[in-house]
Amino acid sequence: MSIDMKKYVEQIEKKFPEQSEFIQSVDDVLSSLGPVLERHPEWVKDKIVERLLEPEHMVSFRVVWEDDNGEPQVNIGYRCQFNGALGPYKGGLRFAPNVYPGLIKGLAFEQIFKNALTGLPIGGGKGGSDFNPNGKSDKEVMRFCQAFMAEANKHIGANIDVPAGDQGVGGREIGYLFGQYRKITGRYEAGVLTGKGVETGGLAGRAEATGYGIVFFIQNMLKANGDSIEGKTAVISGFGNVAWGTAQKLEQVGAKLIAFSGPDGYILDESGITGEKVEYMLELRASGKDICSPYADKFPEAKFFPGEKPWGVKADLYIPCATQNDVHLEHAKQIVANGCKYYCEGANLPTTPDALEYLQKNGVIVGPAKAANAGGVACSAIEMSQNAQLTVFSKEDVFERLEGIMKHIHDSSAEAAEEYGFGYDLVAGANIAGFIRVAKAMQAQGWV
Ligand code: GLU
Repeated sequence: MSIDMKKYVEQIEKKFPEQSEFIQSVDDVLSSLGPVLERHPEWVKDKIVERLLEPEHMVSFRVVWEDDNGEPQVNIGYRCQFNGALGPYKGGLRFAPNVYPGLIKGLAFEQIFKNALTGLPIGGGKGGSDFNPNGKSDKEVMRFCQAFMAEANKHIGANIDVPAGDQGVGGREIGYLFGQYRKITGRYEAGVLTGKGVETGGLAGRAEATGYGIVFFIQNMLKANGDSIEGKTAVISGFGNVAWGTAQKLEQVGAKLIAFSGPDGYILDESGITGEKVEYMLELRASGKDICSPYADKFPEAKFFPGEKPWGVKADLYIPCATQNDVHLEHAKQIVANGCKYYCEGANLPTTPDALEYLQKNGVIVGPAKAANAGGVACSAIEMSQNAQLTVFSKEDVFERLEGIMKHIHDSSAEAAEEYGFGYDLVAGANIAGFIRVAKAMQAQGWV
């Protein structure tokens, strides 16, 4: 029996033509699943794919907050609880002006498989708001978070749905959200949010976890190809939390980071982005301006290229850590022309489908985001278990577990790809390994 996976994608495209990120994510995941469904006719009969494509719940709500001039401001809040077969819905909140239902659904759909790959008991969800945090005062951010939680609290809980950070939502925002949740409910339910500060039940090392996990994943990917990360030159995009953690770990494992970027252009620093230069990324982010050019004023050995992306810089390893649709076909062509062998996604959905196809067709080994950046959410699940046990785990314990989890994600993705005839294709393997875990849980739970 040969299964037409395209028909599912076409149905989604027809139903939600404007939801491009959701369509992209569905297309990516389903394109690897034909051989799996051929071996599991019972999943076809039970309509596992049809059920998987429909979120269990999706809410949107009005968020009204007061700005510093005493004026009311209105935004939209979202929470998509896509699939809870493996555990409480789990995924970040994104505050950015381009947030709309198609982006939240696309990211939530990715999150289902990412969370499944960690091997931990977490379902998939995502949320956020079209609130733009750039240029807002600290008190405005606080009032926005309080107004957001005044609605969101009705939908979340340690055993229901556990939001965390994502773009525009870091430790500060999670702190404000948690304070408001505690005030509204009157309960110190630490496990309702992850990414908290350590003083509020947060996990030591959670801030670094996503970036560290990406580099652990790359080490496994290189090892499987008889290579090592030591001495490799690397280019990343972005300068947020993920980029910062990745840069720190690259230095620790002896790779040389030479470029990073912001929406205003990219920084080239051939002397190597290490030590205080990596920490300076945090200052750039905290400035709320969303620009990276001040790096070149502070460190004169660096050069700033306004309005350009960093993908033309020659390196051994490329790691997009900024945002979705960051690498287009023209960039994939530059990356291939640079003679690169390894490309690993740090951000969610950073590569357009045609760019991904071009990279893979030209022999570049690709680490997909849902596998490579799963260390962040894996550590969130560890934070949930820390809170449930009323205990505190050490940073050393966390990083040791993280390293093991990233190896498990790499190896299970590689094995699934091999088993279903895709060779060493981690993109297909991650989709298959994640899907099989979710499908088994859905089948076990009957027609719900
Ligand atoms: N926002 C992160 C992600 O994309 C983390 C989610 C979480 O920790 O729940 O995976």
